[in-house]
Amino acid sequence: MTRKHVVVIGAGFSGVAAAAAIVRSKRARVTLIGRDGFGPGLAYGTKDPSHLLNVRASNMSARADKVDDFALWLHSKTGAPPTTFATRGRYGKYTQSALKQAQRAAMFSGGLKLLRGEVVSCRAGSGWWNIELASGRSIEANGVVLALGNQPVSTPSVFTDAGAKVLDPWDAKELQRIPKGDVLLLGAGLTMVDVALSLAARSRTRTIYALSRRGLTPRIHLDPPMPAPSTPLQLPQSLSQKLHEFRREVHTMAERGEPWQLAVDRLRSVTPALWRGLSPDEQSRFLRHLRVWWEVHRHRAAPEIFERAENLQRQGKLRVLAGEVVSVSPDARRRSIEIYHRQRGSMVRHRIEVSGVVNCTGSNMDITRSDDPLIRQLLSEGLARAHSTNMGFDLDEQSRLLDARGQGQGSIYAIGPITVGAFWESTAVPEIRARAAAIAALF
Ligand SMILES: Cc1cc2nc3c(=O)[nH]c(=O)nc-3n(C[C@H](O)[C@H](O)[C@H](O)COP(=O)(O)OP(=O)(O)OC[C@H]3O[C@@H](n4cnc5c(N)ncnc54)[C@H](O)[C@@H]3O)c2cc1C
Repeated sequence: MTRKHVVVIGAGFSGVAAAAAIVRSKRARVTLIGRDGFGPGLAYGTKDPSHLLNVRASNMSARADKVDDFALWLHSKTGAPPTTFATRGRYGKYTQSALKQAQRAAMFSGGLKLLRGEVVSCRAGSGWWNIELASGRSIEANGVVLALGNQPVSTPSVFTDAGAKVLDPWDAKELQRIPKGDVLLLGAGLTMVDVALSLAARSRTRTIYALSRRGLTPRIHLDPPMPAPSTPLQLPQSLSQKLHEFRREVHTMAERGEPWQLAVDRLRSVTPALWRGLSPDEQSRFLRHLRVWWEVHRHRAAPEIFERAENLQRQGKLRVLAGEVVSVSPDARRRSIEIYHRQRGSMVRHRIEVSGVVNCTGSNMDITRSDDPLIRQLLSEGLARAHSTNMGFDLDEQSRLLDARGQGQGSIYAIGPITVGAFWESTAVPEIRARAAAIAALF
């Protein structure tokens, strides 16, 4: 039996994938620590059947060494083909089953222990780590994987300053309690579409407004699907040359009758390397000017979801607005909020009165503003530093944390959304499972 011990902190999809990959590698026994349960995490805990995966079953395996694992599991449960966009709730069940499978495998490799609790600090000894929980308990380990996940969304100050409540998009009970009337959704991406579909099913919801700076909504997946050409796009060094060459390639592909989706897919396997090849200045220019275009073309909606959202727009039930909120006045007596918004660059203000506001802008990626005790401790004691974009931790190519001086920190790694700054493409299941396997091989 191996004597190495690895603690995985956070037990959403990333933590489960990492813990399972480590026990399968037989390199260490694992303790998986979760604050809010084990498996589905934020993305796959929803019970709403209108919330579908945005990736087909064929590419949603939790295992890098068995890429049809989810498709086979889904087929055994429902008979659905691998091209299906399954419900996210069903995927949550799959993550639990993947964890059970890993626990069975771990019986022959030293064990996989699940521990409920919140880790509040993680400090280095000589050759080991001391992990402290909020309960006061502490654990020693030879290695640590931080799988801290999606950080809570942050509410725009125009709402907090006015004392107006902004709801969490994943709090189904709160959404059900929104009084009769119009609703404003902040953001226009995939989360907005999910929430719009849920709210549209309630008779109490009148018009749903979705407001984002540019008012761009997610594009659609190819239907029927087409495999992306196996050769990744080769792009030149600088950001502007990359953009120029990418546009030219999309144009050439269109002339050959090939859809633009394939051009985006041809970037996927090389995205982390392209991103890491950009200078900090180019990365921040990308975030300022190109991010939103990337998001809507890369994170596409399942055709069924796309059609339903289009239908809502055609019926006038969903209205997508480009602009920003300029003032907010809650009216407690009327149980409503008066909001003025305007288009970017325009002085013309438009008024809406809504009975609820939901923040669909996505998780707060800026770890320097995090309230999480563990993140704060790692940063304040210099054991980790934020990436130059502030979007998660700064890491070396092997996902190892870099300390305040930029030195690799022994055997402490990060995976999932807290690695966006380091790798950019790092939040979807195919990337997470590949990182989990790569980290497992390092213990
Ligand atoms: C709504 C949504 C839909 C998505 N749909 C898809 C999809 O269809 N296909 C796809 O490929 N990707 C999808 N993604 C992206 C991706 O799969 C998820 O972001 C992924 O599940 C991330 O998992 P995670 O474990 O890193 O984070 P989380 O799910 O956020 O889990 C992190 C866990 O760690 C715990 N934790 C944090 N700090 C501590 C601590 N100090 N101590 C103990 N526990 C702690 C948290 O409580 C939480 O349970 C989606 C993402 C979202 C948000």
